Order: sequence, then C-alpha cells, then structure tokens
Amino acid sequence: MSRGISFEKHDHASCVNEALDVADQFCKAHKLQLTKVRRRVLEILLGQHKAIGAYDILAQLKAEGLGSQPPVVYRALDFLVSHNFVHKVEKLNAYVACSHSGQHHSPAFMICRMCDAVAEMQTSPKAGVFGATAREIGFEIENAVIEAEGICPSCQKDDAAQ
Ligand SMILES: [Zn+2]
Ligand SMILES: [Zn+2]
Ligand SMILES: [Zn+2]
Repeated sequence: MSRGISFEKHDHASCVNEALDVADQFCKAHKLQLTKVRRRVLEILLGQHKAIGAYDILAQLKAEGLGSQPPVVYRALDFLVSHNFVHKVEKLNAYVACSHSGQHHSPAFMICRMCDAVAEMQTSPKAGVFGATAREIGFEIENAVIEAEGICPSCQKDDAAQ
C-alpha cells in the first residue's frame, strides 16, 4: 500500500479509515483529546488529496452545525498541525492531511497548479545537496519547507486529450 503517492489511483476509503485509525490510536496513547470538531476537520481534509483553505473547512463545519466562528477551525487546525496529522501548504495558504501520520518527518509537497492536488513525500532536509551546503557554511537546519509546483498526471492527461 503506497500511501503518500496520492496522485496514483488507490483505495481511498481505506486510505481515509487508516489515517483516522492512526489519529485515534495516537491520541489515545498520548492522552490527547481528539474532539468531535478536530476529528471532523481531519476527516474533511482526508476526503481529498487536496489542500483546503480554513474558510472552506469552516463553511463545512457550519453546514453541519459544528461551529461557525473562525477560532473553532483555527484551534482544531493548530492541534492537527502540531501533532503532524495535517500540514500547512504555505504556497496555497491551505491545509492538507498528512500521508504519513504518526511518524516524525519533514514533509515535501508536489502541488498541481491546475487542480490543487497535493502529494506528500518524505524528505530529510539535512541530507542531499541542500544539507551539505548548509553544513559547509556551518548552518544548522531545523526545519525546511519544500513545495514544488507543477502539473499532476491526471491534469497532464486532460491537457493531452484536448
Ligand atoms: Zn487516498
Ligand atoms: Zn506528513
Ligand atoms: Zn492536477
């Protein structure tokens, strides 16, 4: 099962269930409260492998009667981001569910500029050319945001079909 390679066709229902299971278990093990709103926000983000803005999430919560004030969604997102269930995609100012929940990692994103699909890879910013250059100049990398923009396989197909 290749989670994280979200551009590929996969069994998305089990992809969502698995991620929710991981979150449930992690929160239980660490005595964290996965409240109804937090869990629902995670579920909304897991619904698509796309980045979703806070206000779109809020609109959905509102429609479901779970909350109507921005702090409700921002607090839930803060919780989910701080425990690595969700990442912020700076480039889109939006959020995406993590594909490697429960593992400590540095995410890197491939973002489709046509459909906003986001695929997450794991990277190690301290490795590779970037890390080597940093070491050379005596810089200690603590955190790196890697976001690559391009066109996903399905949008490339659509383009070719026209
Ligand atoms: Zn999926
Ligand atoms: Zn992640
Ligand atoms: Zn696309």
